Amino acid sequence: MIKKTDPLQAYRSLRDFRKTPEPSPEEKSAPGEDRIFVIQKHDASNLHYDFRLEVDGVLKSWAVPKGPSTDPSEKRLAVPTEDHPLEYADFEGVIPADEYGGGTVIVWDKGTYRNLRQEKEGGAVTMAEAFSEGKIEIFLEGKKLAGGYALIRTAKDRSGKFRWLLIKMKDDKADPGRNPVMTEPESALTGRTIEEVAREEASKG
Ligand code: MN
Repeated sequence: MIKKTDPLQAYRSLRDFRKTPEPSPEEKSAPGEDRIFVIQKHDASNLHYDFRLEVDGVLKSWAVPKGPSTDPSEKRLAVPTEDHPLEYADFEGVIPADEYGGGTVIVWDKGTYRNLRQEKEGGAVTMAEAFSEGKIEIFLEGKKLAGGYALIRTAKDRSGKFRWLLIKMKDDKADPGRNPVMTEPESALTGRTIEEVAREEASKG
């Protein structure tokens, strides 16, 4: 018999919620909202951007070292990471240095998304199916990013883990002249930079 597994088991097992200010999955989020996407800038041992999509009650997650691009000719590496709870989408703060993912996190962009494959292919493809097929196409409505984005699973790397690519789709929101990762570094929630959040948290002592 197949047991239904807890999709957040990895998230829980990597963290000590008495030590990290990150949300514990036991906290309930508001139901019935639109499906959310969030991109968190995370100044861990390597600075990266965590791209997360709400799928079936959790946030499917990828770490994107260079962050998203608005240029369709740029393919950005996206490394899958563990599912996160929905309430993580509003997390900004400092994870203690000796904890998993230690470093400062801000919400770099947040909004809602639509499943473009479902719209194009007649409602046949759910997000869970698109994820397991390794071919996701979504329409983002965020504060910084908008329009179509594709997440495509490619080959496995040397450690045997799948790599994905995050690519801006060609539409009227594509703009090779923009570089929002560089020009719009501040939080989409609070307007603070990652350095300001780090300083404010440090001053709380
Ligand atoms: Mn991260």
